Amino acid sequence: MKAIILLSGGLDSTIAAELMNREDLELFAVNFKTPFCLCDRRSSNVGCGSNARRVADALGIELKIINATKDFLEVLKNPKHGYGANMNPCIDCRILFFRKSKELMEEVGASFIITGEVLGQRPMSQFRRQMDLIEKEAGLDGLVLRPLSAKLLPQTTPEKMGWISRERMLDIAGRSRKPQIALAKDLGINDYPCAAGGCLLTDPEFAKRMRDLIMHDELDMQNINLLKVGRYFRLSEDAKLIVGRDENENNMLASLAKDGDYVFGPATMAGPIAVGKGQFSPDEIDVACRIVARYCDRDGEFDADISYRRLPENEERTAKTLSMDDTDLAKLRALTTKS
Ligand code: SF4
Repeated sequence: MKAIILLSGGLDSTIAAELMNREDLELFAVNFKTPFCLCDRRSSNVGCGSNARRVADALGIELKIINATKDFLEVLKNPKHGYGANMNPCIDCRILFFRKSKELMEEVGASFIITGEVLGQRPMSQFRRQMDLIEKEAGLDGLVLRPLSAKLLPQTTPEKMGWISRERMLDIAGRSRKPQIALAKDLGINDYPCAAGGCLLTDPEFAKRMRDLIMHDELDMQNINLLKVGRYFRLSEDAKLIVGRDENENNMLASLAKDGDYVFGPATMAGPIAVGKGQFSPDEIDVACRIVARYCDRDGEFDADISYRRLPENEERTAKTLSMDDTDLAKLRALTTKS
């Protein structure tokens, strides 16, 4: 009997994989990659894939990593079941991943799906009503086995058919991870770098920026990557500025800037790189220069020489600019989503 296991590489799915690998089953793991995974910060685009790979390799399970970004962004713009506390469209996200898992199930000849979900752990997608709805909308009624909570849930087809033993399933519920941590110890699982998983869309500050992006119809990968970096200022409906906070962010911003973007920076002193995106009028260029000057090492001076150019131009213009004072910056902060 073959089953698909959704493997994020976090604690719960690792335990589920370990438990089910002890059953008389052939497991085929799937991991979904989106730009919002927090588990692996070594590369913003890697998602949890590297953790899942490590777990799958350790268990000798075949793994397919599916880049779900394109479909996920469509869901994110307008989720049928709405957002959670921030910009996390958890129900629609799970439906999308379950639908894709179902396709894979059919493709590889598997009979059901296994997840590491725990009843009541996440308010938007792991309560009974939502679990049922997600399963139904994904066309997987009765075909999703959740070994960590199975004894608290109705019997699934694999249990009814005797493909797996309900007796060996668990009855974990709720938000505490203590039972899983104890269980991991018993199972000899010592390395779980991303115990609680993580999704940037549940971060309130990131969510504000994301909301701004969606409102302005700017949802693409460059803009999403820019949301992860620096101070974010919306200067007008058509112009925004992202200012680096340290050398690492300055380098990231410089590498993310594309043709048509403005690049701002101090001409003579130490200070941030900033990327301007959109249509900048002379007034907005002035505002951008003043913001950049605000974060330069001005050594007590009120003004700074700020250079800027619009890519791909090489020619820089330099403006002697008064730094933005705290009152104006506070007003701008009130207008923008994050500073
Ligand atoms: S937290 Fe993020 S990845 Fe997890 S279900 Fe919600 S939207 Fe999807």
